[in-house]
Amino acid sequence: MRKASLEFLKAMLAAPSPSGYEGPVREIWMDETKAYADEVKADVHGNGIACLNSKGQPRVMLAGHMDELGFQISYISDDGYLSFETVGGFDVGIIPGRKVIVHTASGPVTGAIGKKAIHVMTPEDRRKIPEKHELWIDIAAADGEEARKLVAIGDPATYEPNFEILRGDVAVSRGFDDKMGAFIAAETMRRVAESKRKPKASLYSVATVQEEIGLRGARTSAFGVDPLVGIALDVTHATDSPGMDKRKSGDLKVGGGPVISRGANISPVVFDRLVAVAKRKKIPYQVSAEPGGTGTDANAIQLTRSGVATGLVSIALRYMHTPVEVLSLKDLEQTAALLAEFVLGLDAKTSFIP
Ligand SMILES: [Zn+2]
Repeated sequence: MRKASLEFLKAMLAAPSPSGYEGPVREIWMDETKAYADEVKADVHGNGIACLNSKGQPRVMLAGHMDELGFQISYISDDGYLSFETVGGFDVGIIPGRKVIVHTASGPVTGAIGKKAIHVMTPEDRRKIPEKHELWIDIAAADGEEARKLVAIGDPATYEPNFEILRGDVAVSRGFDDKMGAFIAAETMRRVAESKRKPKASLYSVATVQEEIGLRGARTSAFGVDPLVGIALDVTHATDSPGMDKRKSGDLKVGGGPVISRGANISPVVFDRLVAVAKRKKIPYQVSAEPGGTGTDANAIQLTRSGVATGLVSIALRYMHTPVEVLSLKDLEQTAALLAEFVLGLDAKTSFIP
């Protein structure tokens, strides 16, 4: 991956963005996209929207959600420990024993998610997965008074930044889901803007908010952008690690190229055109069967106004919704290359009637 792009991705991953608190990531995203977009703005819901060639036809929207899983402080005890809510779909059993950062009005405060030590657990405790109200964040405050001076009810928290290359182009981080989708939406626009061919379509790349809690930013931004074609960029479950069942989730590999979805949530015209581009440009790709509405921004986009010709292109990812999500950086680049060619191949006459 080109160095500047990798730095951009790393900056997004390091910035906190639990659903409803996406501001720090949106700032980085808007700062980057203004280098090649004609116009970049935020809407009142918090979505970041970059536009290229606004007068072109058809109007194409790419959506990657920039929110990530996180925590929210819900109670501060008199002895200074913080109780929290989870933001997004958590496996509570893997939360304890990690460092978190509470993002407060006066800056980051590091804490430890505590749990009773193994030695003092009863045999029954050892078998049990804790409930989230039984966990706490320890910021080493002397008492509740000190803790309340540092942290306010409702402050968000995240795991600490932890991006690292594992081997070759395979990397690990918290929050790939789905800051890498917002990254691909931006990278696609850069490629279209830098292309020698002038796009006939207008391109809106959107970093959406609040996907993890119900596809909320895609709904508002798709209404505002009013596209004919909308493509969501998200992660999907790779099935190349132990315990995953290909009979249940298909055959999807990290490093196998973009995953192009097919099914009722997807316009067959968009699917066919994406596959044709992948074949022509010799981009490896994988296909995922989606029999109904997907749990992604593609679902909200398709049902906007009188309907949008929708696509879903995903990145195969291991260990979704854990702090150690694993994916291939090469897959991200190939997805941006695929989408840029797709956009450059459209004109006002392209029909999307299935
Ligand atoms: Zn997710």
